[in-house]
This record gives sequence, C-alpha cells and structure tokens, in this order.
Amino acid sequence: MVNVGILGATGMVGQRFIELLDQHPIFNITALTASQRSAGKRYEDATTWYLDNKMPESVRDIVVVDTDPSQVDDLDIVFSALPSDTAAKVEPEFARSHIVASNASAMRMEDDVPLVIPEVNPEYLDLIEVQQKNRGWDGFIVTNPNCSTIALTLTLKPLYDRFDIKRVYVSTMQAVSGAGYNGVPSMAIVDNLVPFIGEEEEKIETETLHLLGDLEDGVVTPASFGVSASCHRVAVVDGHTEAVFIEMEDPADVEEIESTMADFTGLPQKLDLYSAPKNPVVVRSEENRPQPRMDRNESGGMSVVVGRVRQDVAFNNSFRYVLVGHNTIRGAAGASILNAELINEIL
Ligand code: NAP
Repeated sequence: MVNVGILGATGMVGQRFIELLDQHPIFNITALTASQRSAGKRYEDATTWYLDNKMPESVRDIVVVDTDPSQVDDLDIVFSALPSDTAAKVEPEFARSHIVASNASAMRMEDDVPLVIPEVNPEYLDLIEVQQKNRGWDGFIVTNPNCSTIALTLTLKPLYDRFDIKRVYVSTMQAVSGAGYNGVPSMAIVDNLVPFIGEEEEKIETETLHLLGDLEDGVVTPASFGVSASCHRVAVVDGHTEAVFIEMEDPADVEEIESTMADFTGLPQKLDLYSAPKNPVVVRSEENRPQPRMDRNESGGMSVVVGRVRQDVAFNNSFRYVLVGHNTIRGAAGASILNAELINEIL
C-alpha cells in the first residue's frame, strides 16, 4: 500500500478525498491535516460532514494535525485540498520530500508544474523532471485543473483532435459546493442566482488552452483558439452544468460530434486505472438531459455527461451542447486521485 495524507481534510474537497480513498486498493490514508482551528481534534469532532454516505469508520479517530511537513511521517503522497493562498505557501514545503497532488490553483500555471487531466495530456508529467531539477526537490507537485475546466476540456479534447476548434463560448451554472463549506451564504443563493464567481472565467479561459497545448523541450505552448466564459452560481448542491457553443474549423454532423465524444478514451482506460471511468464522456439522447441531480454521479462521478448536441445554424461548422460534471469528484478529489494513480503506475 501507498501511504497518503490529505491536506485540508475537513473541507468540501477533503471530505470527497476521504470518501473516495476509503476502499482504495492502493492508497491508504494515514494523515489528515487542516487549519489550527481543527488541529488536535479527532477528525469526527473537527468536521461538519456534508456527504450522503456516512463518514468512514477508519478516519473518525484520526487526530487532525496542523498543515506542516514536520507534523506528518512516512507519507508517499499528499493530496492537497487547501485554499489557494495557503497552498501557495505550504505545497512547496511538502514537495521537498513528498509527491503533492493538488486541487488548488496556486501552482497550476507555473511553467514547470504539470497541469494534467490523465485522458487529455498525460505527457505533461514529463515536466516533473524539469521541476525537480529547477527547484532541487526530491518530491514534486502535480495539479489538476479548475472544476469547470476539467469537465469542459474532457469534451473538447476529442473534438479538437478530430475537427480542430476555432472558438468556444461556455456559460456555466455552478453548484454551491464549488465554493467550499463557508463559500456562499444561504441568503445569497436560495431563490436566486449569482452571476459572478471570482477568477473562474479567467481560469477556464487559460487552463483549457494550456491543457490542449503542446509540450516540447520542457515548455508548454497553449492551444491558440478563442475561449470565452461566463460563470454563474446556482442553487444546486453538487454538479456543475455548462452550456457550450463551439465553432470548428472542419465540417461535422451531430452524429459525428456525439460519437467522437462517446468513443473517447485515453491512457487511464488503457492502463485500467482503478478510478478511470470506462467512458470519460457519456452522451445522452433525451431532450431534457443532462441534469445535475440525475447525472452528476455517472460512473461514480468520474464521467462528464453530455446531451442536447445540436447544430447551430447561425454559424458555419457550429454546434451547441450541455454538459454536467461532478465538481468535487471529477472536478477535484477524483481528478487528483486519478493523477496519483497514473503517476504510481508509470513513474
Ligand atoms: P473548504 O471547504 O473551504 O475547505 C478548506 C480546507 O482547508 C479545510 O480543511 C480547512 O480547515 C483548511 N484550511 C483553511 N485554512 C487553512 C490554513 N490557513 N492552514 C491549513 N489548512 C487550512 O474548501 P474546498 O471547497 O474543499 O476547496 C479546497 C481547494 O480545492 C481550494 O483551493 C479550491 O479552490 C479547490 N477546488 C475546489 C473545488 C470544489 O468543487 N469545491 C473544485 C476544484 C478545486 P479547517 O476546517 O480547519 O478550517
């Protein structure tokens, strides 16, 4: 077994890590960290558990420690679910001697830090060698993208490879769990919609192009088509919905768009990694799907569900579709775990 720790274990994403790792065949949780507010308490006492499944017995009595490398022993991998400002300070300290698989945005766009979706750009893991050389670390940091970006990019990758993309517009309807436990006050969101999520549009626009770029001689050149995002918070607990408008260079029809997404697989499927869904993108034909409540848990929350693929007759080679992705599973904890499974398999 590989011993793992979770940084920020008491939060929304930290709890998903615990749920997903509870029965994991390779990774064994041995340390949980959080802020000084929680350090010294049993996990059960430190955490306001929000998931439908019960808190696993195996973690209830673990004493939460401060998020500091000196507080943990014998860890092979640390999963980070820390707020970005804390991650910026602490993740490099852990990476001196640990593998850090991070959800936080702090290090994502650093030149020598791989930002990876295993089905999309596993070759970016080659940056690990560059990072260790640049920074003199024995460990390293690997990051996964923002929760909306992961779902969008999983659907764009097969289309980009086959038809080439000219531009993408995306309008998101994002769940409240995406903002963390104390993120959105109920008085702001019940009977309402908030048409602003700080820095989210910029993340979607830059991370998507970075993920679909090319790595050559240790340098990532981002893809060069246009991405334009508008982000909105809605009164859904889990599951981000995105309305996508795509213009491509090459002609296609609706059936080709659907089959190109539905047939898409990557390295995790080839290697049969434990958390890899059989189909990263599941395409549905009903006119009223996908919906977050019904579709967010597809393949244990690891698949993105697409529906309403239709031609956009107003423009050449243009299509519209709707997707749903589970923001704390495929969009966060599940994404980090799949990155770690890939690293464990190939490095
Ligand atoms: P959250 O619910 O607010 O949880 C934050 C966690 O970090 C808690 O365990 C908290 O511990 C701990 N923490 C806060 N301040 C700390 C400090 N100064 N030192 C050490 N630990 C500290 O947030 P979240 O939604 O889980 O998000 C975690 C990270 O994942 C963020 O970077 C977020 O942007 C990213 N992310 C989130 C999602 C999502 O859908 N939620 C998706 C993708 C990425 P205490 O309980 O002790 O305060």
